This record gives sequence, C-alpha cells and structure tokens, in this order.
Amino acid sequence: MKNSKLIILGSTGSIGTQTLEIVRAHTDSFQVAALSAHSNWKRLAQQINEFKPDIAYIGEPGLLDTLKSQISHSHTKILSGNTSDFEEFIAQSDADTVVNSLVGFSGFRPTLAALSHGKKVALANKESLVVGGALLEPYINEEFDNLIPIDSEHSAILQCLAGEPAKSIKKLIITASGGPFRTWPLDKLDKVTVKEALNHPNWNMGSKITIDSATMMNKGLEVIEAHWLFQLPVASIETVVHPQSIIHSMVVFTDGSIKSQMGLPDMRLPIQYALSYPDRWPLCSKEIDWSVPLDLSFEPVDYERFPCFKLAIEALDSSVYGPTIMNAANEVAVERFLKEEIPYIRISDIVADCMAHISSTDSLSIESLEAVDQEARVYARHL
Ligand code: NDP
Ligand code: MG
Repeated sequence: MKNSKLIILGSTGSIGTQTLEIVRAHTDSFQVAALSAHSNWKRLAQQINEFKPDIAYIGEPGLLDTLKSQISHSHTKILSGNTSDFEEFIAQSDADTVVNSLVGFSGFRPTLAALSHGKKVALANKESLVVGGALLEPYINEEFDNLIPIDSEHSAILQCLAGEPAKSIKKLIITASGGPFRTWPLDKLDKVTVKEALNHPNWNMGSKITIDSATMMNKGLEVIEAHWLFQLPVASIETVVHPQSIIHSMVVFTDGSIKSQMGLPDMRLPIQYALSYPDRWPLCSKEIDWSVPLDLSFEPVDYERFPCFKLAIEALDSSVYGPTIMNAANEVAVERFLKEEIPYIRISDIVADCMAHISSTDSLSIESLEAVDQEARVYARHL
C-alpha cells in the first residue's frame, strides 16, 4: 500500500465526496493535506472536522467566518477568495498528489500549477485537458505517472492498456449512455425541463456534467480528453452509444482483438484506481448479478439528436483555441439553461454561434487562453 498526501480540490462535489470515501476506506494509505469548495460551507466544515487537513479553501469570501465558526480544532488554516493563494499553497505543500474534482475552466490553472510543481494529478476535471491540452501535453506520458484520469471511460482505457505497448493500439472506443433523451421524439426536445435533463438514467453526478451528458457534449469533451491523454488523432477515437453503462470503454488492438473494462456504474472504482495505480486495491461495491439475463446493446451516435457532440469534435479540428471557445460557450449555455433562461435546444445553438463568431490567435500561452475563454463567455452570455 502507498502512503500518499492528498490535496482534494472540489472536495464537496460528487467526485470529491467519493474520493473522501476512498480515503476513509484506506486511512493507512492517505493523509489529507488540503480540501477546497466553492460555497458549500456546511459540507466543507464536516470534512475539515473529520479529516483535519493542514489547509482548507472556500471560494466565496463572504462565507469564511461562517465556515471558521464551525471548526472544532485549530489545526487547519482556512483561506478564502484569492485563488493565487491556493495555487501558492499547492506549490509549497509537501502533498504528492492533487485530486482535481473542480468543475469547468476553473480547474485548468490548479492542474497546471500542480503538475509544474512536480505533483501527480488525479484528474476528474476533464475541462483542464479540453481547454489547455496543448499546455498540459509536456506532462503526459505513457507511464501516467504525472497525470492520471479519473473519468470512467479513460480509466477503462488505461485498465485495458495494462501490459500493452502504446504502438499496439489501433483505436479507442468510448462508450456513451446516451443520457435521458436517447429515445425521446426529436420534436419534444424543445420542451425539455431542467428536472428532466438532470435525471440521468445511470449516474448520479454534479449538475454541469449531468446536462453535458444529456446533450452528449460530455462525450465530445471526453473524445478531446482521450486525444490528449492517449496521444491519438480523433480519427482513431470512435464513440458508441451503450445505454446500460456496463462497458466503460474499449481498446481495439492492431491484431483486431478488443479489450473492454466492465462493471456496474460506480465512480469510486476509477477514483481508487487513479490513486492506487498501477496496483489494484479491494473495493466494496455491488457486483453484476450473472444469474439473471443481462442485455448489452450498442448503437451509433445520432448527430441530429446530439449536435453538441459534433460541435466538440469540430472544435478540436478548428484551431488551437477552438475547444476553449466551445467549452466556454457550453459552460455559459448550461448555466443559463439551469437558471431556466434558455430552452434546452438553445444550448447547442449558443455553442455553434460562439464558435462561428470568436476567432483567436494561435500563439499558445496561459494569458491568451484565459483571454479567449473570457471573450467567449461574454459573447455567449449575450446571445
Ligand atoms: P460537482 O458540481 O458535484 O462538484 C464540483 C466541486 O467543485 C464542488 O466541490 C464545488 O464546490 C467546487 N467548485 C465549483 N466551482 C468552483 C470554483 N469556481 N472554485 C472553486 N471550487 C469550485 O461536480 P462533479 O464532482 O460532478 O464533477 C467534477 C469534475 O469531474 C467535472 O469536471 C466533471 O466533468 C468530472 N467528472 C465527474 C463525474 C461524476 O460522476 N460526477 C464523472 C467523470 C468526470 P461547492 O460544492 O461549494 O459548490
Ligand atoms: Mg465519463
């Protein structure tokens, strides 16, 4: 067993809380150096009281005093407001691993800060690779000893690749559940409510990724994520709809053999695998009941139903910052849909409009990445 000191960013979210379940199950292997949240002070306070990290960070400065008043010990230093303080802490900390379970573009800088200071990153925040894959590429290698995926499809691929040289990969097959609207009549999609879109058939996740799963933007983001992680062209990454979410993804090898990784949907497995890699640890989880019939089915992606999927792939082909623009527009559109400002079917229109309107330079830097992201957000908010 390892002995690892963890910084968990976004510890109050769906991935963050499941990461802490893994920590609880392996207390001999982990220490918690830091926890962070945006505004959920109640859950963060419980976590601080239980795990006693060296440092905790709450994004909303107005909640700092409320959070402090709930803490039962003086071990933890509590910060707020200025993310550069937190990045500084990542740099100074003796933690070896950062679990990035932030949502959206805000996850990119912490990923880069952690990697550039020699920390290993267990990455749930796929947007880091979508927006800044080219800037993170120097840290990606075949051993996955710097940057390791938590996303279940990418973890599945990593598990299929164990013992296989990279040159024997012919293509990757990423599976998609198809979300709640896979079989809805197309002419009813303009009436989709927020509640219906948040009702994912197989996974219980944060609201942003749940809407991305309904539009299949999530799968587009995952193709881009796989492109950077496994260093393959998009033409070698196929997507197939598999509504049961039992096969989490597959690898086709040069001799035609196909390996898949299977299991009931449970994010604790890929989270734990990212932390135990290359070892496997026991995990108490539900198993497939093979005594009853189980049908696994596959179907191609319906591009008319899921325009966001196609837009994401086009973004990767368009320019260095194409995915950054697409991602910013999508984050704004999803937020607006969740606030009931726009109908569900407008999400893809806003992404397409923004991609057509915003042009960017090709010079790669963090500053221009952030400027392009901001410009796309401002435009998408006014559409
Ligand atoms: P959640 O919305 O459940 O959690 C997000 C976390 O990030 C919360 O702790 C939240 O704090 C914090 N946060 C949000 N915005 C900010 C901000 N601006 N600054 C600091 N902290 C912030 O998301 P998920 O856990 O579902 O997803 C996290 C990432 O993992 C996403 O990139 C998603 O795509 C990816 N992922 C998730 C999966 C899942 O099963 N959930 C599966 C595969 C990938 P607070 O609680 O205070 O708001
Ligand atoms: Mg996934």
